[in-house]
Amino acid sequence: MRTYPNHYINGAWRAPATAATIEVLSASTEAVIGSIPAGTPADADAAVAAARAAFDGPWGATTPAERAGWLDQLAAALKARANEIAETIAGEVGSPLSMAQNIQAGLPIAVTSSYAKLAREASFEREVGNSLLVREPYGVVAAITPWNYPLHQIMAKVAPALAAGCTVVLKPSEIAPLNAFLLAEVCIEIGLPAGVLNIVGGTGPVVGEALAAHPAVDLVSFTGSLRAGRRVSALAAETVKKVTLELGGKSAFVILDDAPLEKAVTIGAKNALLNSGQTCSAWTRMIVPRALQQQALDIAASAMASLKLGDPFAADTRLGPLISATQRERVEGYIAKGNAEGARLVTGGGRPAEFPRGYYVQPTLFADVAPAMTIAQEEIFGPVLSVLPYDTDDEAVAIANGTIYGLGGGVWSADQGRALAIARRMRAGQVDVNGGRFNLLAPFGGYKQSGVGRELGELGMEEYLQVKSIQR
Ligand code: NAD
Repeated sequence: MRTYPNHYINGAWRAPATAATIEVLSASTEAVIGSIPAGTPADADAAVAAARAAFDGPWGATTPAERAGWLDQLAAALKARANEIAETIAGEVGSPLSMAQNIQAGLPIAVTSSYAKLAREASFEREVGNSLLVREPYGVVAAITPWNYPLHQIMAKVAPALAAGCTVVLKPSEIAPLNAFLLAEVCIEIGLPAGVLNIVGGTGPVVGEALAAHPAVDLVSFTGSLRAGRRVSALAAETVKKVTLELGGKSAFVILDDAPLEKAVTIGAKNALLNSGQTCSAWTRMIVPRALQQQALDIAASAMASLKLGDPFAADTRLGPLISATQRERVEGYIAKGNAEGARLVTGGGRPAEFPRGYYVQPTLFADVAPAMTIAQEEIFGPVLSVLPYDTDDEAVAIANGTIYGLGGGVWSADQGRALAIARRMRAGQVDVNGGRFNLLAPFGGYKQSGVGRELGELGMEEYLQVKSIQR
């Protein structure tokens, strides 16, 4: 049980303005495993004031090398608690422990280290003619983050913001917030200077909106749903803040007719089901040549069956529950729509009888999905893979590009050049060719309504810098 009665503001625990709390539930047992304060606009105000004072004061005067030193310390302290982080996230999100260790804990630590290095190596000034271009930190950042890769999404904002010299007020997801409060413990442990990072518990409509509208916040970096992203943008517009958005996706995996089918389909199906499908860039639409659809379905069904569904804490579990009852209902609603609109259910489609507790949904495979169907257009965020048949490469590209989203994608062909040509035609921020690996230095972000701006690597830090031209 992790009970956090206070916010982390100005370098220390600080009592909330009211006594209201938010309970955190285990995804697999539905038991209460922790609580955080249900913050108010008054708490958001206190955090912004602390961040403002630190930015206008000592943190604003630090050098990139000093900030890199703090990021190194942060990464080392997180690493020392990597198991605790993985177990916490396996509890609140339901990610299988082995995956939680590698990705949920491992990735944010690696991202934090990458920004220590980038802060040391970046050049913040350059000359253009008679001008000196000085890249300066944007100011006070409000970071609003979701629950699916919670600490990764936090550090993908906090690390580059601190590297750039900004200060941050973080409002983590209220559904999986315990990892963020563990981060606060780590900040206190290393003695991160007061006000540099502040963490306020609370809901989106209360604390999130207070931050997005706050006149002393210079930039809002938001990751979450399209619906909330639109609201944050609208509120931030009133005070002309910079807004970066990482939103949803409906990513396509295009398998060309010469691809090694067994390998491509197996990797594609596992990609779609990572974190029980609660991955914004998951390849949830598998686009296959019509003549190969049945073969692809057989391979996908057996790849999905090979992922052991179960308790996130069991060593052999590869697929955990969904995060919440709400999320499960949403996913079940989409499965019902798939059936009603005429998609062919191949496997899954319901709750597994062997898990009466926990928010489990069977891995679900739909065939003959038409591009206009709801399950081919809207983000489901669950273990549901749609297979869409195509007849020509041009049609495959049109289907891939035929949603409002453009976050991730994949292409597979025996001919690397042919795959690359298709990848270039896809309107998405990240496309993996023939199983190309995730690169934490490559910019991540969306085309179209998947977002604005980029995270990770050098471009991720750019978002937190603004340029002053000094003419001489
Ligand atoms: P969500 O939008 O409900 O919540 C995200 C965050 O926004 C939470 O902290 C929440 O409290 C806050 N929020 C909610 N309403 C708000 C409002 N009116 N004003 C201000 N803040 C508000 O999303 P979620 O359910 O936590 O996460 C799932 C969504 O996030 C999916 O759509 C997924 O695709 C997306 N996502 C995108 C990326 C990416 O990098 N593009 C990464 C992860 C998740």
